[in-house]
Amino acid sequence: MCGIFAYAGKNNAAPILIEGLKRLEYRGYDSWGVAVQENNAIHVVKEVGKISKIDSLNQLPHAKIGIAHTRWATHGGITQTNAHPHYSSDNSFVLAQNGIVQNYEPLKEMLQKKGYKFISETDTEVIVRLVEEKLLGISSLRLAVRAAVKELEGRNTVILLSNKGEIIAARNGSPLVAGRTASDDLIVSSDTLSFAPIAQKMLVIDNGQIVQIHDKEMHIFDITSDKELKYNWEDINLRNDKVDKEEFDHFLIKEIHETPKALEQIVRQDKKSYLALAHALKAARTVYTIGSGTAGVAAAQIAYYLREFAKINAISLVGADALEYVELFSKEDVIIAPSQSGETADVLEVLEFAHKKGLKIASYVNMPGAMMTRMSDFKFMAEAGPEVSVVSTKIFTSQITWGYLVAKTVSDGFDEGITHINSLIEAMKRYLKNQSNINLVKNLAEKLINVDDIFLLGKGQNFYIVKEGMVKLIECTYKHAHAMPAGDLKHYAITLMQPGVQILVAFSDDSSMSDVINAVNEVKTRGAEVTAIGSKSSKNFNSFIKVPEVKELNSVMNVIPLQLLAYYIGIQLGNEVDKPRNIAKSVTVK
Ligand code: GLU
Repeated sequence: MCGIFAYAGKNNAAPILIEGLKRLEYRGYDSWGVAVQENNAIHVVKEVGKISKIDSLNQLPHAKIGIAHTRWATHGGITQTNAHPHYSSDNSFVLAQNGIVQNYEPLKEMLQKKGYKFISETDTEVIVRLVEEKLLGISSLRLAVRAAVKELEGRNTVILLSNKGEIIAARNGSPLVAGRTASDDLIVSSDTLSFAPIAQKMLVIDNGQIVQIHDKEMHIFDITSDKELKYNWEDINLRNDKVDKEEFDHFLIKEIHETPKALEQIVRQDKKSYLALAHALKAARTVYTIGSGTAGVAAAQIAYYLREFAKINAISLVGADALEYVELFSKEDVIIAPSQSGETADVLEVLEFAHKKGLKIASYVNMPGAMMTRMSDFKFMAEAGPEVSVVSTKIFTSQITWGYLVAKTVSDGFDEGITHINSLIEAMKRYLKNQSNINLVKNLAEKLINVDDIFLLGKGQNFYIVKEGMVKLIECTYKHAHAMPAGDLKHYAITLMQPGVQILVAFSDDSSMSDVINAVNEVKTRGAEVTAIGSKSSKNFNSFIKVPEVKELNSVMNVIPLQLLAYYIGIQLGNEVDKPRNIAKSVTVK
């Protein structure tokens, strides 16, 4: 899930490439590289680690064209040699990839037999050598890339820079968008957000297309037919595209505080689009919801709302494991995909199957121009503004609140749903503004800082909420956290309950409350300590984090202290919470 950024224009390329890369760093941050072309030569700088050693950029000449890459390693260790871009043997071009070449082993073997030498351990270098091989019989770089790309298996998007000052990019699975500035400079990137501050226009490059930039002109070709395609630039429509921590120490805490603003966007959306989706859901045989990571938890909560409020047979799937359901899909089914990036490879693969089988697809995506939106019959945009922290917070809450409104619409309760969401927004604003609420969470964070294991219990509307708490704790604190249905605890995890064990419970004052209290008493009897999050205290808890009462949306309110808790433990531990180790935000590889 690397980030790709290319520039061709009138200005010095290197600083623009670096700025673009910084905005793509959420996609991977183990190493990076920049290549520029000047005087028929390509100059490359590559570094391991975050994009900080900008000094090395002084080694690059003033050039008007270049490409850059930030890596999340899949094949080959995190080394300078394995960082992209990679040179061709004669230094006539460099190449970077976002994705995985699934058949890199047989290709590498074939190329080695032909005498090609490999310097790095990456699958990406196979593409470099394959393009070289194709260039033996094809004189145009674009056609050689086309021939090479046709032999690759997997999802991969590649970008090349030639010593003649040409950029070629081919999209196959992983995202690619083009941008144009007011003065007609051209950009090619993995996402629109990366060039939003400098570009006015955007163009989504579709799968199976090749971009060629030469002499300040951009041409697009279909890979299969090699026909040149006409294109129309679109205006960039990115709300709140400022990427700035403002008065906050981290993007993560800023984005938690932006949640009410993100929810306001849901209320503003057109009722007609909700009614159209509700109509399709009512007619559906089964509704599948799908997501990966945090969005997978959101998908599960959305399925919960569809069962609870709309009485729909809704099943949630986790992206990486959903293929086993594909055979069961029928064209009477609908599939719903909440996603920040709209580019998650695991989910896209399942949606492609669903599309072929004739299912209707609904998506709720934050990033404009994403593949998921393009393949959807019902396209919803979160419009929650950029979420820069790799740890997703405001988008999760936006996704589940949207799912709630969809479920309410199915049961003819759209207006009531809007009223509840408005109350939630006001309550959340009040909660976040009140420093004593924040201090309570900070105190709990201090208590949990030395604990190795944290258990989280929830039931009904709160089960996936505690699961979200678990995901956040794991991402921010690197501690072991384990969320489970409160009622299931007694069947296995009760063996682990003993003095000193810390339990977090999220609850709502509803029919699930008595079962939750039973679980609380069961763990307390064995010496565990329980901190509860909810709107109503009970003498059964050891400590209590109070949130405002917001009825049907109580559990959404409970998300906020759980996210805050993960943040405060993470920073007290000195962890880099905006970029937790080993993960990246937009997982465009399988
Ligand atoms: N497979 C490539 C590598 O490891 C790119 C990985 C990616 O896109 O995340 O270098």
